[in-house]
Amino acid sequence: MSTSPSSSPATSDDTPPSSFEMDDTIAAIATPPGVGGVGIVRISGPQAFKIGAEIFRPARSSTALPLPSHLLTHGMVANPDSGEMVDEVLAAFMRAPHTYTREDVVEIDAHGGPLVLRHILELALAHGARAARPGEMTLRAFLNGRIDLAQAEAVMALIVAESEAGRRLAMRQLQGELSARVRAARARALDALARIEASIDFPEEEVPPPDPAELAALIAASTDVVSGLLAGADQGRILREGVRVAIVGRPNVGKSSLLNALLGVERAIVTAIPGTTRDTVEERASIAGVALHLVDTAGLTPTDDPIERIGVERSRAAAASADLLLFVVDGSVPLSELDMRAAGELAALDADALIADGAATDGRHEQRPVLLAVNKADLARVVSDADASALWPGARIVPTSAVTDGGTRELAERIAALALGGDVRAGDALVASARHRDALRRAQEHLRAAAETLAAQTPLDFVSIDLRAALESLGEITGETATADLLDRVFAEFCIGK
Ligand code: GDP
Repeated sequence: MSTSPSSSPATSDDTPPSSFEMDDTIAAIATPPGVGGVGIVRISGPQAFKIGAEIFRPARSSTALPLPSHLLTHGMVANPDSGEMVDEVLAAFMRAPHTYTREDVVEIDAHGGPLVLRHILELALAHGARAARPGEMTLRAFLNGRIDLAQAEAVMALIVAESEAGRRLAMRQLQGELSARVRAARARALDALARIEASIDFPEEEVPPPDPAELAALIAASTDVVSGLLAGADQGRILREGVRVAIVGRPNVGKSSLLNALLGVERAIVTAIPGTTRDTVEERASIAGVALHLVDTAGLTPTDDPIERIGVERSRAAAASADLLLFVVDGSVPLSELDMRAAGELAALDADALIADGAATDGRHEQRPVLLAVNKADLARVVSDADASALWPGARIVPTSAVTDGGTRELAERIAALALGGDVRAGDALVASARHRDALRRAQEHLRAAAETLAAQTPLDFVSIDLRAALESLGEITGETATADLLDRVFAEFCIGK
């Protein structure tokens, strides 16, 4: 079959072959590289059954061909030319359209050795299949209309999910929750557009001019859905990608030790000599179902040592991009000039970020939470809450001890809760990818323009231009208006065999 997206892919001598050939049969090893109990070769397309029948021999010679659909049959993969047996396998012949790609699919469950799988794949290729590109099976599922683009992306998000929260979010997207909301927003904008166009196309006929109040209500309803999705987007990103936490503070306060306590494993080198953590160390942990990316920094204090200077630069970059700052002080000694300076540097960094980001960004820096860990709580405490508050007004203060592990569990939970913010319900976080967020922002902008144009009583043609642009942006999420270029970019992120 030949399905094509809204604009056909560019073809020239220097572009790779288009991903949108749908007439051929593709094959790939669907399991990850390496050794495993089972490995799967998947063949999809019009020739899948023919190729499968050529290279697979049922164990029982009495087995009737064609094999029943969607049932596993025991047998051998053999080279039909030489008769050489390649592996003992289970094969499933699955007839279109009830398959992953909506095409005829053959799946061969073989032994999970790289040579075995390679050999089976090469037999399939020698008998008429083409090696599938990354994500091409899922691309076909999309082009054949089984899933939309947001659902296709959810497949990959599910595969790479790092936390329970991320997995749950991907699963909801795969089941079409995001798509349904986007379609609801589109339906209202489309309704408004249809009313305008009917009056433009048939001005003299029976079509009464649309009621501006009704148009405004439809545009507002569409905007509400889009704004609701955007409101949960920060949470969505954090649920999917994890919370970026930068651990900052002057040398020797226990940053590396706290990082290790949070992870429960020894990773960063802990020593009593100031300035040994010369580089940033990034670690990942999953706490309360949320992935944490913890970055221990070398400190923000300027230095003349060229190697330390690199560390300081990296620390500043890590601190600038973090969702949350964990500012650590040593509670067993009075706060020093170095603590003040670290706090001052951080404040300056946040101010820079606010200015650089302006109002149009994701707002991450606007209320970036700061947790102030008063560490070494196992020793006599000399830093009071008042001292700590003076260092960073508004920071939440948590006493911790990296040595006795006191407070680290609470610390981890507070990090997760703070980063997610208390006010947005997890159920509202449906948008997790930067691509979706970007498309929603553009849709929101066009809808706002449509509402303003309408209110200004400008001719309705102008409102329809804005509405079309909004529909275009929303359609990019579900794929209705995705260009070939966009699809190439989306599916290039996939793994082979998916
Ligand atoms: P960093 O330079 O801020 O990363 O500090 P380190 O993690 O390297 O710790 C500096 C020193 O403080 C080491 O000797 C640690 O063993 C010690 N230390 C870290 N956390 C604690 C703590 O909670 N209690 C005590 N008593 N010592 C700690």
